[in-house]
Amino acid sequence: MLPEPLSANSYQPGSNLEPVIFVSNLNHYFGVGGLRKQVLFDINLEIKAGEIVIMTGPSGSGKTTLLTLLGGLRSAQEGSLKILRQQICGVSKRKLTRLRRQIGYIFQAHNLMTFLTAKENVRMSLELHDEYINQDMDAKAIAMLETVGLGERVNYYPENLSGGQKQRVAIARALVSHPKIVLADEPTAALDKKSGRDVVELMQKLAKEQGCTILLVTHDNRILDIADRIIYMEDGILKNDSADMITSRH
Ligand code: ADP
Repeated sequence: MLPEPLSANSYQPGSNLEPVIFVSNLNHYFGVGGLRKQVLFDINLEIKAGEIVIMTGPSGSGKTTLLTLLGGLRSAQEGSLKILRQQICGVSKRKLTRLRRQIGYIFQAHNLMTFLTAKENVRMSLELHDEYINQDMDAKAIAMLETVGLGERVNYYPENLSGGQKQRVAIARALVSHPKIVLADEPTAALDKKSGRDVVELMQKLAKEQGCTILLVTHDNRILDIADRIIYMEDGILKNDSADMITSRH
């Protein structure tokens, strides 16, 4: 029997969709020789298409390390890691680069190019994708900025935008190419309560509209309720099957 497609289905609790993120027995180490230190221990995780998952836990517990492995920003060393059905443990840098184009990234510091306008920052993401070459990328970038409420600010440089507005540009940049997966690391950390809430609600809305899967790392207890599922990392151990650690809105 053919597997079910991973297309724009919004996540339904209890659905049997094949996971878009599949991690099995993943270990990770930093350093070499006597200084080698294990930071992730036997991680097992499945995230289904359209699911919004929040990973929380103390600082230094390994959340960012796991996120960077899932995003192909760091090479996985031990275990099995499949993204969009593709095994990425031990694959070449070239394959990782190709995979990265299917993932949107949103970071705490938004990482916008300071010398580019909001529109140019969003457009840059489209330029990485061959399928947009013959399309009006400026129009697409502007439309996406309008969607995130920045239609009036398309020609502003980051220095002239507030923290919340910069994070909205980062969201527009991450989602404009309709990635299957968005990985977000502390996207609200630099924002006040109201802006932080607005930003994650916007991410949630767009992800549900696009059928995109989100894995979001946060310390921010005020945004946990946007998740379909919450997982907890402690000392490099992921507690994603413990009833008292997982809360579900459904
Ligand atoms: P979190 O995101 O939960 O704060 P991290 O994934 O950043 O945790 O860090 C997990 C552990 O790995 C910490 O002990 C941290 O010091 C260590 N670590 C993270 N990045 C590196 C690195 N590049 N080199 C060595 N150790 C690192």
